[in-house]
Amino acid sequence: MDDLTEMQKLYDEVRVCSCCELSAGRTNAVPGVGPVPAEIMFIGEGPGFHEDRQGLPFVGAAGKFLDELLARVGMDREDVYIANVVKCRPPNNRDPKPDEIEACRSHLERQIALLKPLIIVTLGRHSMARYFPRASISRIHGQTKRQDGIVYMPMFHPAAALHQPKYRSLIEEDFQKLPALLDEARSQGLPLRPEKPQQLSLF
Ligand code: URA
Repeated sequence: MDDLTEMQKLYDEVRVCSCCELSAGRTNAVPGVGPVPAEIMFIGEGPGFHEDRQGLPFVGAAGKFLDELLARVGMDREDVYIANVVKCRPPNNRDPKPDEIEACRSHLERQIALLKPLIIVTLGRHSMARYFPRASISRIHGQTKRQDGIVYMPMFHPAAALHQPKYRSLIEEDFQKLPALLDEARSQGLPLRPEKPQQLSLF
């Protein structure tokens, strides 16, 4: 099975998943969106109200800001892959619980394996915690680490940045680092990446 078909299969499984209690409250699961493979993958925390309604990640206010940040560095939402650590909306947009993140872990791991990203940008604390355990986001945002051929960069969550001016300028500065980071990652990138990424039709 090719990677796109595998990803479609994963989406189908996520949409009917009942591995944790978040499934009971969802309108739609939100598997993710973007090209397969993808050079840059963003991982947020979990779907909010609008994402749950539409089945797509980052389509509310935080998503509009994410689009703006991407545009400022010459990128488009269609150039990157966007997913979350949990695929179903936590009630009242509360933080995802550790057991919910754990229940969704295999979905995210499979996504990463299919996308073969050069760069993973974590958005917010819960996403950061997977790759930078016990770290403080205020201390390490915008810094990178390379592990198993992937460059990880933690950033503040766009929703936090939208409401707090001090985070807003920090996330804007961190985004400015992405083009050079991508050039560098491409020059050292994995040799076996397929040439032409493809988009899944979502519904
Ligand atoms: N916040 C997130 O972390 N993810 C979304 O998809 C939307 C808002």
